[in-house]
Amino acid sequence: MIANSHDLLDRATLIHQQTDLAAYQDTGGTIMKHGEGVYVFDEAGNKYLEAMAGLWCASLGFSEKRLAEVAYKQMLELPYYHTFFAKSHVPSVELADRLLAIAPKGMSKVMFQCSGSEANDAAIKIIWYYNNALGRPQKKKIIGRVRGYHGNTVASVSVSGQPHMHADFDAPLAMFKHTDNPHYYRFHEDGETEEAFSTRMADNLEKLILAEGPDTVAAFFAEPVQGGGGAITPPAGYFEKIQAVLKKYDVLFLADEVICGFGRTGNMWGSETYDLRPDLVSCAKALSASYQPISALMISDKIYEAMVSESKKLGTFGHGFTYGGHPVACAVASETLKIYEERDIIGHVRKVGPLLQQGLKDLEAHPLVGNARGVGLIAGVELMADKAKRIPFAPELKAGIQVMEECHKVGLIVRAIGDRIAFTPPLVISAGEIDELLAKFRKGLDAAL
Ligand code: PLP
Repeated sequence: MIANSHDLLDRATLIHQQTDLAAYQDTGGTIMKHGEGVYVFDEAGNKYLEAMAGLWCASLGFSEKRLAEVAYKQMLELPYYHTFFAKSHVPSVELADRLLAIAPKGMSKVMFQCSGSEANDAAIKIIWYYNNALGRPQKKKIIGRVRGYHGNTVASVSVSGQPHMHADFDAPLAMFKHTDNPHYYRFHEDGETEEAFSTRMADNLEKLILAEGPDTVAAFFAEPVQGGGGAITPPAGYFEKIQAVLKKYDVLFLADEVICGFGRTGNMWGSETYDLRPDLVSCAKALSASYQPISALMISDKIYEAMVSESKKLGTFGHGFTYGGHPVACAVASETLKIYEERDIIGHVRKVGPLLQQGLKDLEAHPLVGNARGVGLIAGVELMADKAKRIPFAPELKAGIQVMEECHKVGLIVRAIGDRIAFTPPLVISAGEIDELLAKFRKGLDAAL
């Protein structure tokens, strides 16, 4: 890459997130300049089909003018206000009402924050507050899953099961535990059916709860489809069995809908797609099509009632951020939800999702591809050195990175999570653009051979 002034300035000034810092000093990166539909363009004018919608988030693509207009109007009217100290503002009230009207069953109250991490962090604090309110201060441990991802604040990264985000950050904190990664293709034993695999996963969760002591385990966090773990859809029967264990030991269930919410899986919520009955739901990303930073934590009545009783005892419910529920972000999110409804975004995902899934499935015939699996407009493609024996590539080969880089060269942005390539294009992607995505991905695979 030829360094231009922004590239040099970038390397001289910015601390890049989730980046190999030493390598970046040598190589630099790609500086994006503008967006149009499902495409982004870098400073040199190169065009990329964004098959990850940025970070699984730009659901309406990169040029939705209505959202910009609403943000501008709100900035003129009331550019900032908050919901501390019994104050409120119109955009937050309207968004709360609109969101709860479409929320997963049982959700009756909502709190707005700025990011998925903050929503999950708030959930952890509220779960602790709840158990204190119920007079069981020992019931505090939170169980996540290996390769699960729930964010990067100290608590949300602790419930996440991403080893590289724990190493040398002194995480996870001691009260966070992890159970199995439900990645059937990678981890099933020879001859084990999906149902049998799911039973094993649920049995292991039960063993963990018993080993820790059920009266110390407060909650279990899971994404309906594990995103940062590699776009892993749950195996048959998985959530039914897991939820039975949670119920048996009075363990709260948080469904992390930060990626799956708002149509990604072909229903409004991943919880609908997989019949989840959560006590808490976090969402972000597509809530505002990512045009503004905003997240939401929704909770059930039983949790809210306990919060009110505890707050009655203590006075103030002592949680909140300056920008939580920012009026501009709330206004943009409300407009986003209107657009989803007007354009029947779920109907669109149901129409084009199968084209993506079938196209990727067809690539199982490719010598590098062991497995392709997904739902709606989220999918993962697993690269394998020996497909018949399910032997992965040696890690030092960095097969996933090679494929990702070859895709980049042909104008396709995908994400390599180890040797699994993830896809979450904008929800507005057309059938023709899916064909283009598939053709470019095949080119990237062929070039990496
Ligand atoms: N939860 C899930 C499932 C996510 O995928 C992410 C981010 O990718 C988060 C939480 C954290 O969200 P944020 O990066 O907005 O803090």
